[in-house]
Amino acid sequence: MGLFTPTASWVQDEHHMFADAVGRVFADELAPNIEKWNEQGRVDRAFWKLAGDQGLLGGAVPEAYGGAGGGKGFDAIVIYEQGAVGDSGWGFSIQSIVLHYLLAYGTEEQKERWIPGLVSGERVAAIAMTEPGTGSDLQSIKTTAEKDGNQYRINGSKTFITNGQTADLIVVVAKTDKDAGAKGVSLILLETEGADGFRRGRNLKKLGMKANDTSELFFEDVKVPQTNLLGAEEGQGFYQLMKQLPWERLAIALTALGSIDFALKETVAYVQERKAFGQRVMDFQNTRFKLAEIKTKAEILRSFVNDCVARAEAGTLDAATASMAKYWSSETQNEVMHECLQLFGGYGFMMEYPIARLYADARVQMIYGGTNEIMKELIARSIDV
Ligand SMILES: Cc1cc2nc3c(=O)[nH]c(=O)nc-3n(C[C@H](O)[C@H](O)[C@H](O)COP(=O)(O)OP(=O)(O)OC[C@H]3O[C@@H](n4cnc5c(N)ncnc54)[C@H](O)[C@@H]3O)c2cc1C
Repeated sequence: MGLFTPTASWVQDEHHMFADAVGRVFADELAPNIEKWNEQGRVDRAFWKLAGDQGLLGGAVPEAYGGAGGGKGFDAIVIYEQGAVGDSGWGFSIQSIVLHYLLAYGTEEQKERWIPGLVSGERVAAIAMTEPGTGSDLQSIKTTAEKDGNQYRINGSKTFITNGQTADLIVVVAKTDKDAGAKGVSLILLETEGADGFRRGRNLKKLGMKANDTSELFFEDVKVPQTNLLGAEEGQGFYQLMKQLPWERLAIALTALGSIDFALKETVAYVQERKAFGQRVMDFQNTRFKLAEIKTKAEILRSFVNDCVARAEAGTLDAATASMAKYWSSETQNEVMHECLQLFGGYGFMMEYPIARLYADARVQMIYGGTNEIMKELIARSIDV
């Protein structure tokens, strides 16, 4: 199937070549490890390096920082292809998000210092917004970064942080001015190696996405040089987040599309083999209609997602459109997994068939990156002007 629609305006020959190469790497090196990584609760660090060596991490990064010099479409391909081999554990989306924060707001010194390691896979990134007491209401975060000489002292705690056990570069969302509301929020980069007062908590046990390490993080008087503030000015964090969240939300939609394509493929193969009442399960009209509905939803989503990628490449993907993509794709993904699992009968409930894992993995797509209720709020704001 693949990510691209035949008329997608952003797709060039190099995107096709890249998609083929990424698909091969994932078929050989990712898909065979999914079960093992799910059991161990994290992806092997070696896979990050392998992905870097194969050029998967820096497709959208300028050559000056070790990348291939393409646009966001290259990251879109990686995210889609990951879903299309049935994986949700490898935290590339977050790596891509952090890279785009650095590219958009980093000083030249910050870009040179951090981007090459993220592109080579030697460094793994995380972004720490959510706290035990607040997720949706980001302005209410309690983590602080207070000036102390030429350093910041970070205090607070974060939770649900993707790549949290593995990351060595963390974008910490903190208040540099406790009394300034959204204008007091800044993004500060923490290099975890040797960071006194920084502690990783539990690798959280989850309903799905078990191969991804999702973690608590604790900060107790963690000293970070002031040069680690993202960008040149304090208080820009909320604006920086709002500008970059559309990409995070599109990444979720790309994952949804990849997962739907994978689930459809697996389900078709199963119902073509499985017999009931002397015929293939595929031959029941109910099965054919369900699969027809799923295929239609997948194609509608593919068109929308391609349009969003084209806008992301052009720098015009707005908050409301990205919210629509995130909300609709994740709901569709959950509906599709529900229907596909049903077509597997009892085997669908068994973890030895990937559909059970896909069903569990899909659920969080409606929650993280901003819940779907928050997405609807953002969409409504664009209507009620
Ligand atoms: C597996 C996983 C990975 C994650 N990865 C990261 C990560 O890497 N970095 C990070 O910072 N965070 C991460 N998160 C956190 C995630 O973004 C938050 O869980 C999410 O934003 C919701 O916040 P909350 O859990 O505090 O829910 P709450 O904000 O407490 O929401 C609870 C309920 O209230 C609803 N609600 C809240 N406000 C409104 C409103 N205004 N109108 C209507 N309904 C509302 C919500 O939709 C939800 O249904 C991750 C979460 C999970 C589960």
